[in-house]
Amino acid sequence: MYHVVVLAYGAESDRVLGVPGEDLEGIYSAREFVWWYNGHPDCSDLDPDLKSTDTAVILGQGNVALDVARILLRPTTELAKTDIAEHALASLQESSIRKVYLVGRRGPVQAACTAKELREVLGIKDLYINILESDLSKSAADEEEMKNSRIQRRVYEILSKAARSQPSHPISGQRELHFVFFRRPEKFLHSDDSSGRVTGVRLEKTVLKENSGSGRQSAVGTGQYEDLGCGLVLKSIGYKSVPVDGLPFDHHKGVVPNIRGRVLSNTHTEPLIFENGLYVVGWLKRGPTGIVATNLYCAEETVASISEDLDQGVLTPTLPRPGREGLQQLLDSKGVRFVPFNGWEQIDLKEKSLGSLKNKPREKITRWGELLKAANRESVTEQ
Ligand code: NAP
Repeated sequence: MYHVVVLAYGAESDRVLGVPGEDLEGIYSAREFVWWYNGHPDCSDLDPDLKSTDTAVILGQGNVALDVARILLRPTTELAKTDIAEHALASLQESSIRKVYLVGRRGPVQAACTAKELREVLGIKDLYINILESDLSKSAADEEEMKNSRIQRRVYEILSKAARSQPSHPISGQRELHFVFFRRPEKFLHSDDSSGRVTGVRLEKTVLKENSGSGRQSAVGTGQYEDLGCGLVLKSIGYKSVPVDGLPFDHHKGVVPNIRGRVLSNTHTEPLIFENGLYVVGWLKRGPTGIVATNLYCAEETVASISEDLDQGVLTPTLPRPGREGLQQLLDSKGVRFVPFNGWEQIDLKEKSLGSLKNKPREKITRWGELLKAANRESVTEQ
């Protein structure tokens, strides 16, 4: 159908922790929780119980972990002015969660978040922040890591400043954010009744060990454990891309194998064989890391590869291809449900107009049927 196809479908699954009790009620991946509050139709029925507990534990200290902490802790009067899904706002308005623990298996020097996102969560109104001074002491290896990374330096400075500027105890009723360092999950705890609900996380204390030559330090267990009680757990340990039938996929790295965005047929063959005309960008190309700007540079690299291949005659754009029109005909003939760009524009318009009635940038439509209706595609057969 096309001379060039770029795979850009990202990472829509989750890394697994592999810890006993991971399937207990009340444990979700941060991705599911993010999809829920962002109104993704596949998670609009998630309905996490935010009423039966006052404590949530978030595992991981990356930017996604900070995002979900922010949603749990920010005043709902402020959230009401954002494009948060209506069902999530209603649930958060009734939430009893007052304490959020952000648990990292390494130290403040290795916290995976970035400065701007950290400042946003620390800047939440009337929030008590708890960071132990003892966790802030640095080893020579930490100093070395910080010397080589401006982001790590800034994150460490912000955490240190936050630790110094807090009173020693929260005022009664104040929401609390606790940064817990050097702890890794050992298992999830549940009550003796048959509810199957999580009641806490057993954490193992860790120390850092240098990986020779890599400049990176890993967390190593010490055999000392402590339990942290909670009624909600969000696992925020990273996303995972999913393979598509018939397309190359590196299951070990969780990416489509590629060199500078050119998709490889197989990572194990010599010489390397490329899938002619097939390219990849973003998390599917590099793995689930990097902020928006990282993805811009990544896309530029892929576009440069396409451009070089065109110049060098690897692609043969002189032969006509049916393109979008041909694709739409094929999908229609197979009865495949799809929303074309103008359908997406209809959805966008509808969401914005629903939002304007409530002083919100948009009101998300959170059901597939309603989305198809807004896109004038409700008569399309479901596949
Ligand atoms: P991430 O940055 O890779 O962070 C993952 C966190 O999980 C790290 O703290 C990591 O600790 C921890 N972790 C991983 N495996 C673990 C395990 N088995 N046990 C315990 N902890 C484990 O991932 P993310 O937060 O999902 O974010 C993905 C990307 O999106 C990042 O590049 C992020 O910056 C970006 N993002 C950006 C924004 C923004 O720009 N506003 C917002 C959201 C996300 P270790 O460091 O020890 O591995």
